[in-house]
Parts: sequence; C-alpha cells; structure tokens
Amino acid sequence: MSNDSTAPAYRPATRLLHAGLERTPFGETSEAMFLTSGFVYDDAQQAEATFLGDVTHYQYSRFGNPTVAALESRLADLEGAEACIATSTGMGAVSSALLSHVKAGDRVVASRALFGSCHWIVANLLPRYGVETAFVDGGDLEAWQAALSRPTAAVLLESPSNPMLDILDISAIAELAHRAGALVVVDNVFATPLLQKPLELGADVVVYSCTKHIDGQGRVLGGAVLGRKDWIANTLQPFTRNTGNALSPFNAWVMLKGLETLALRVGAMTGNAAAVADHLAGAEGIARVFYPGRPDHPQHELARRQMSGGSTLVAFEVSGGKAAAFAFMNALRLIAISNNLGDARSMVTHPATTTHMKISAEERARLGITDGVIRFSVGLEDIMDLKDDLDRGLAAVRAR
Ligand SMILES: *Cc1c(COP(=O)(O)O)cnc(C)c1O
Repeated sequence: MSNDSTAPAYRPATRLLHAGLERTPFGETSEAMFLTSGFVYDDAQQAEATFLGDVTHYQYSRFGNPTVAALESRLADLEGAEACIATSTGMGAVSSALLSHVKAGDRVVASRALFGSCHWIVANLLPRYGVETAFVDGGDLEAWQAALSRPTAAVLLESPSNPMLDILDISAIAELAHRAGALVVVDNVFATPLLQKPLELGADVVVYSCTKHIDGQGRVLGGAVLGRKDWIANTLQPFTRNTGNALSPFNAWVMLKGLETLALRVGAMTGNAAAVADHLAGAEGIARVFYPGRPDHPQHELARRQMSGGSTLVAFEVSGGKAAAFAFMNALRLIAISNNLGDARSMVTHPATTTHMKISAEERARLGITDGVIRFSVGLEDIMDLKDDLDRGLAAVRAR
C-alpha cells in the first residue's frame, strides 16, 4: 500500500483517524471488517488476469486482505513510509525483514541490547543458515565502525532499548552501515511511530510489534514492516506471502481502532512516565532511574535530538538487589506484574528473572540489567494513583 501523494498533509493525530479508510458502498462510519480467507472472480478471465498481475483484485488473505490493507496504508502514512506489510506478530515482522533480505554467506551486525527474541534470531537462528552475525554495544560508535568495516547485509538495532532505555545514535549508525552496504532495520517499538521517525534519521526499514502501543489495550498480537516500495515489493513480499506470516483481518481491525487513539494514549502515557521518573528519582530505596526524558539520562541530549518525547517506559534500580525488587513489586496493588508493555494499564517486570532470564549473568551485567532493575510500562491511570502505588513499593523496600 502506498501513500496518496495528493492527500493534504494532515498532522499525525488526524492521519491516525482518516488515513487508509476506504468505505464500501454502504458508507459505514467505521472501517469494515473483511473476515474472509478468499475472494471470488466474475469469470475465469478475471481470475487469469489477477494471477498475471494485470488487474488489481484480492486473491487470498495470505496475500492481501482489505482490512489488513487499510491498516498497512494507515501505518505507512503515519510513518512516512512508501509501503508497509503487516505481519502476525512483532517477531514475524523482525524475522521476515531479516530472513527475506539475507542469504548464506552474508553478515548481520546488531546492537547487543535487543528484545529477547530479536537477540535469539541474531545469535542463534541466522548462524544456522550460514549468516555470520556480530553484536556491538549500541552506544559505542567506534565498535559500530569496527564491526562495519567489512561488507554487511543488514544492521538491526533498537532505540530506546529494552529494558534499560539506552538511546542509540540512529543517524550515525545508519551512515556507517550504509558505507558497508547494509540495510538498516530499526525496531521502533519503544519509541512508537509518534516519538521517533527512523526513516528520517536514515534507516531503511522500520519494524513494529503492533501488539504494544498500536493495539495498546492488551487484546491482540500483530506486527508491521515499513520501508521503500521496491524493497517491500521485491524482497519482503515474496517472503511473507509464501511463508504465511499474515495478519488476521480481525486483528488488523482491532489495530485500526487502536490507531485512532494512539496519539492520545502515547501522549498521556509519556506524560505519566515523565512524572513517574521524577517521583522515583532521588526517592529513598531507589539507586537509579533511567528515563530518556530526564537530564540525568546518559544520552539525554541525543534523545532530545532524535525523539519528540521521553517514551512511555521507565527503568529503575531498587537498592538491595532481587529481594528488594521483589518486595517492591509484591507491595503494588494497582500496577500489574506483567512482561507486556505499551498497554493502557501500568505494568512492571523484573527483567533479570523474566524477559532476560535466558541470557547469561555476564551478558546481563554488560547490559546494566542488575538484579535490582525493574522495567515499568506506564499506563493511563491517574498519576496520583500511580504515585500512591509506587509509594507502597518504596515503603516495602524501606521496611526490609
Ligand atoms: C514485543 C516486542 C517485539 C516482539 O513483538 P511480538 O508482537 O510480541 O511478537 C519485538 N521488539 C520489541 C522491542 C518488543 O517490545
């Protein structure tokens, strides 16, 4: 799906409601949901012409579906991308973007601080197919330069990173990557399409788990890959169509509804996250707070340059290690313990014993994920209720 270049340049909140909406002859207000696996043809000639590519007609929902196409069109419009393919999950988006692009003998370089399953794909899956992979510390431009001194097929990075919210210099890394011939893939889940525009910063491909802020209400899984029309059509689409990584039209419809309120939700959640970070910083029992929107974040200036907000997530380190972190979490009554994120409901997780349990203690230490670290996905609750709940956690830490 491509952008309509003649459409007026509406601002993001408006696009989130109107882009990609193609009404049926019934003139429904809300997007129609096309729960159909297949499509019929007027005659055999039309079927033949469709398969020849001479006419545009839906064939089969693994190849394309009107509800999924509406979502792809709206996401492309919001991102400023030429094209988009929606996938069954966020991992479907990441794995398809990489696997469709590389072949045996190629090389992939990735930042070390990646979402767990993304890390697994680079560390374990790609090498199985003869792809050489290397990890670098995302903030170390000299390490990127060294790793990219040889021809490289793709670079994968995440900024802000999970769970420590490191900020990577996307423009600088993209420049080095392009010199090595690499396709630059940015996992933009933590920033959302509203707070950071990787394509404008030099990335070639942006991937999302739409499960997170785009649905944002904990209902369905989904993903999306966005990029240039030629790459999507010639590299990604043959792969996704033939491997079956299609998004359900029902899930696409739920996500279209989610997009309508994305700007409101991300704005309010970011406001709450900033207030939470300030509330925790300097509190007795808290060793450190990591929030890109705070001046004490190590890459705060870079965050200000490449993001338009501090993100909806906050990481913090409770003094006293795992026992203190668990005491903090178990004292919460409002904020749920869940490894999901980007939800309207607030959630905390202890990365060392959940999302990052499978990586070695040494690697965790390298990433700054100590046993006291808690990741907080800040929701839409009243900020006073969130602060009261955090105070319950702090009291439990101090009472130890
Ligand atoms: C959740 C997530 C993914 C994977 O998405 P799923 O929809 O769970 O498959 C990938 N990257 C990041 C940064 C995520 O937060």
